[in-house]
Amino acid sequence: MVTTRKPGAKKRALEILSRLKRLYPEAPCTLNYETPVQLLVATILSAQCTDERVNLVTPELFRRFPDAAALAGADLTEIETLVRSTGFYRNKAKNIQAACRMIMTEFGGQVPQTMEELLRLAGVARKTANVVLAHAYGIHAGVTVDTHVKRLSARLGLTKATDPMRIEQDLMKLLPQPDWENWSIRLIYHGRAVCNARNPACAACVLADLCPSVCASATSVLPQVPPPSSEMPL
Ligand code: SF4
Repeated sequence: MVTTRKPGAKKRALEILSRLKRLYPEAPCTLNYETPVQLLVATILSAQCTDERVNLVTPELFRRFPDAAALAGADLTEIETLVRSTGFYRNKAKNIQAACRMIMTEFGGQVPQTMEELLRLAGVARKTANVVLAHAYGIHAGVTVDTHVKRLSARLGLTKATDPMRIEQDLMKLLPQPDWENWSIRLIYHGRAVCNARNPACAACVLADLCPSVCASATSVLPQVPPPSSEMPL
C-alpha cells in the first residue's frame, strides 16, 4: 500500500529535487571501485560503516582479491582480517564470499543486472542492489533508502511510511526515474550538512519554505537558494 497521497506532493518533490541539484551539483558514488564486483563488495562493506572507512580497506582487499573468482576461492579468514575495521566483519566476509561464489557458478563471473537476480546474492538487499544497478550499469530500478533518506523524506512530507520498501515505493511515484539514485545521494548530503537527526538547521535550509517540518524559529527568515557550487559538504 502506498502511503503518500498529499495533494501537490509530486510538484513539491520536483522543486525539492531541483533545489538539491543546484545545491549539490555533483552526485557521485563515494565508494571507490573499478568493476561491478568491486562495487558490490564495497557496498556490502558499507553497511553500518562510513564510505570513508570502506575506502581505506578496499585497496588492499582488491589488490589481494581483485575479482569474483579470487574472492570465491579466498581463505575466509584472510577476507575477515582485511575487512575487520568495517565492523560486523565475519558476516560481511562470509556474505562477500558466498555472493562471489554464486556469481561464479550462476552468473558467469559477472554481477547480474536485474533486481531479482541481485537479491539472490548473500548480503544483498534492495538498498545494495539499487546502488550497484545505478552506478555499475546505469539502471535505475529503485530509490536507495538509508537512514538519511528515510528521515528527510518523512520530514519533507513525501512519505508517511516507516518501512524502507514502502518509503521507496512512495518516492518512486514522486520522482523521475533517472533521478532515483541521485535523489538519495543528494538527500544524504543534505542530511549530513543541514538536516541532521537531532538538530536540523532549518534557518539555513534551502528547503524551508517547502518543508512541513520546518522549525517555527526558521519560518520568519527563509533562506535563498544558493548559486551552483562544486563544493560537496562531506
Ligand atoms: S526545513 Fe528543517 S526539517 Fe525541513 S528539510 Fe530543512 S533542515 Fe530539515
